[in-house]
Amino acid sequence: MQRIAQVLINIATKSINKPFSYSIPEHLDYVDTGWRVLVGFGNRKLEGFVVGVTEEENSGIPELKPILDILDNDIWFDEHMMHTARWISEYYLCNLVDAMRLFIPGKSGVKSTTAYSVEQDVNMSQTLEDLSTKSAEYCHVLKYIEDHSPVLSSKLEKQFGAGALKIVRYLMRKKVIIAESIVKKTGTHRYKSVIRLAVSNERAKLLIDNLGKRPAQCRLLGYLLENKQIFSDELNKSNSSYDTVKKLVQDGIIKVDKVQVIRDSYAELCEIKNDILLTEEQKQVLGKIIPKMQDKEFTSFLLHGITGSGKTQVYIEAVTVARQNNRQAIVLVPEIALTSQIVSRFKARFGDDVVVMHSKLSTGERYDAWQRLRRKQAGIVIGARSAIFAPLVDIGIIIMDEEHEFTYKQEETPRYHTRQVALTRARLAGAVVVMGSATPAVETYYQALQGQHTMLVMSKRIANALLPTVAVVDMRDELRKKRRSVISLPLQELLAETINRGEQAIILLNRRGYATFVMCRECGHIVRCKHCDISLVYHSVGKKLRCHYCQSVEEVPDICPECRSRYIRFFGTGTQKLQEELGTLFPHVRVVRMDQDTTGGRKAYDRILDAFAKGEYDILLGTQMVAKGHDVKSVTAVGIIAADSILNLPDFRAAERVYALLTQAAGRAGRGDKPGKVVVQTYNPEHYAVQAGARHDYQSFYEAEIVYRKALCYPPYGQILKLTLQADEEGKARSLADKVIHELRTLLEETQKAEVIGPFPAPIAKMNDIFRMNIIIKANNLMDVKLHIAAMGLTIRPDIIIDVEPVSIM
Ligand code: ADP
Ligand code: ZN
Ligand code: ZN
Repeated sequence: MQRIAQVLINIATKSINKPFSYSIPEHLDYVDTGWRVLVGFGNRKLEGFVVGVTEEENSGIPELKPILDILDNDIWFDEHMMHTARWISEYYLCNLVDAMRLFIPGKSGVKSTTAYSVEQDVNMSQTLEDLSTKSAEYCHVLKYIEDHSPVLSSKLEKQFGAGALKIVRYLMRKKVIIAESIVKKTGTHRYKSVIRLAVSNERAKLLIDNLGKRPAQCRLLGYLLENKQIFSDELNKSNSSYDTVKKLVQDGIIKVDKVQVIRDSYAELCEIKNDILLTEEQKQVLGKIIPKMQDKEFTSFLLHGITGSGKTQVYIEAVTVARQNNRQAIVLVPEIALTSQIVSRFKARFGDDVVVMHSKLSTGERYDAWQRLRRKQAGIVIGARSAIFAPLVDIGIIIMDEEHEFTYKQEETPRYHTRQVALTRARLAGAVVVMGSATPAVETYYQALQGQHTMLVMSKRIANALLPTVAVVDMRDELRKKRRSVISLPLQELLAETINRGEQAIILLNRRGYATFVMCRECGHIVRCKHCDISLVYHSVGKKLRCHYCQSVEEVPDICPECRSRYIRFFGTGTQKLQEELGTLFPHVRVVRMDQDTTGGRKAYDRILDAFAKGEYDILLGTQMVAKGHDVKSVTAVGIIAADSILNLPDFRAAERVYALLTQAAGRAGRGDKPGKVVVQTYNPEHYAVQAGARHDYQSFYEAEIVYRKALCYPPYGQILKLTLQADEEGKARSLADKVIHELRTLLEETQKAEVIGPFPAPIAKMNDIFRMNIIIKANNLMDVKLHIAAMGLTIRPDIIIDVEPVSIM
């Protein structure tokens, strides 16, 4: 009998989506479904995922390539992971290998490079003669390969320039040289050298006394006596050099061992908080969650709790119970950089039991972190959406904080939504899911009302702090009163009052659709990116125009490129401009700005927030990120500029986003014992999202919104699928879209099961010089639609992007 493995090759080529058969060699006979292996593919060696194993009679099967090696010491994809990956690939119409790749640290478990050597039976002198018709470079390259084989392609390029690859290809065609691929496993264990005594303590002490003339050796021995060991990369701690180590090793006094190290770049300590007495609401909520967890009964909860009601504390208590039962927990946050408060609270309670996933982790660090979870050396993972794929073996609870946030949807293939994956994994594991938000997604709330999730409500702020009062300022009114400042009079007054009392304020500029662009006042021309069809944004740092999509940079024109007029000017309000305006209005006030330009990463964000929390500034000014879940007690005022600019976007979730933004931003005010005040500046004061936001009234927002969703058959009443068709010319994109939509209409609309809308140019019709057309499909249930799309072969086309349940139809 011969065991045969079906192996998916881990490469990102959409059309290679079927498993290939490889024989399992005897010495690897334990390899089974779920293993990561190394296989030959063409002339490369690549990572593969075993997705099935069959047994065949030895006779009658064609000669198969064998599996070359294994990548881990154990199976990687357990049954639940395999099941979830299959589900993702079916639900989101992506290749199974793309779904499986989500579950590994990094994009591939191997790094392969090509090396060249001369074929064995080549007649060298004959070949060199043949090459005389070519340039001399051909002979040089060949001789070099002969002398140095095997030669890495990078080495050749370094030696002979990029032209070397053309020569190599020629020599390969002539069968003079062969290529082989050399692989290195990535994301595996890392080892460190550790130095320890090779003799007894007594003997070491004696040696120190006798080594008086060699102070360096004494120092190292003394250090080892005291600390038992030292890592070779930390020798400076003992003030010694590697030479000293070498000498002592030669004399057999110390030894160097290799040990596996677990990398943890987040190993910082945090302040420990005393135990907290839970509020009645918190106890009630936990009373619903904990029994389900004890019974290992899959249940999903929507925890609808206003800002500052103590949701995070509920998460911590629930996770504590899971850990007491020796089960593991996944804690999902929208963006790890903006949520260091939740991370530090978990670290403070659980210490090293918490593994923090963030985008700055190297593949190796990620691998280590995941290994700790797999071996149950750690019990809790906190991270953004990718943490849902961590290889926990026994999930008891999955927390999803701010479940309405858009960052939970991945915007590249596979375009999964974290909520759906979480529900799938939890169902398999018999775990509970707790989705928390002050402003739940309309779909989630609807599902909870329908009984799909258990609704939990927390309607009081901790210590009975009051929600802030909200004043809505109609900016059209301001203009009528000839007040042209971007900061309305009521907001100016609120700021003055707040600062006079020695309290702090936050100003949020909703920059979407409101950035600073350059426009000609004569002809209306707007300076746009040449590659992306969006307006360029002015950055006063460096005084340049920049494209926020492709990052290309351009000079600011002095005259209009269209009409040569000199009246070309900046419009809109960026955070930088707002900061200048605040400086003019309040010359002595200390303002700190927080946006993508000032926060390079987690550290910068923390630093600004820290300084603000310590009272080093009076006003914190910034984009959406100032509205995220931080907790600064002396903030009593919040101003929201252009709260409603999102409403101008043609998107069915625009109102939901405005409501969420208002609530989150307002939620920053009045978290201590002083009441908070909020000013909302808008051009749509009568809009229900603005009105309900001002009253902190989710219910009435939801009731207005759901009517509109139902009328237009938007989620939760219908499901949406978005196709984006791409081509390097506008005409090609258009005709591709026409062809696809015609076929879709014939298939779908006859049965009246779905509505096909479009094609229309994508909101950014050109991106990086690629033209994009959109098609939207609406249906009560997308199941049939997906079957048709797969049957049409659209899923494997590299020029078509399929987005199942997109967060926006733009
Ligand atoms: P949310 O996540 O709902 O915004 P938090 O959990 O951050 O609310 O709670 C708001 C504040 O109240 C935090 O500073 C938190 O430490 C504190 N807090 C939470 N629960 C309690 C409690 N039972 N007793 C005292 N303080 C609490
Ligand atoms: Zn002009
Ligand atoms: Zn661009």
